[in-house]
Amino acid sequence: MEPRGLDRCEHQVVPVGNVLVAACPRCRQVEWQDSEGPIDPSEGMASLFGGYEILGAFDAIGSPAPEVLVYHTTSARRRRNLAAFPEKIWVKAAPDLWLTHDGERLLLATNHRLLFENLTRGA
Ligand SMILES: [Zn+2]
Repeated sequence: MEPRGLDRCEHQVVPVGNVLVAACPRCRQVEWQDSEGPIDPSEGMASLFGGYEILGAFDAIGSPAPEVLVYHTTSARRRRNLAAFPEKIWVKAAPDLWLTHDGERLLLATNHRLLFENLTRGA
């Protein structure tokens, strides 16, 4: 684990529509805001990735959970939302939810059983 503390990282805020996202590849934290202030992570996730379709759950290696949920979208505009997050680095998008992507597909991982079931059920 990397030492933290005195040596704080600078979080870069990326606007995606009305949402401001700061996803840090170093401390792996994600901050969600809009023009009014902090917003609920689930609200931010819905705003950025609401139109994504699930491709399935896959056994995974090197992820924060044993299975990874893979999503995609046919909309080039929605796909660009992925760029607000570091590629191939897991960040904590919400208290029980890890997120990364490969530039094309959205990858989510959770050890929270109920959240897993909600995510696989689809929006
Ligand atoms: Zn950081």
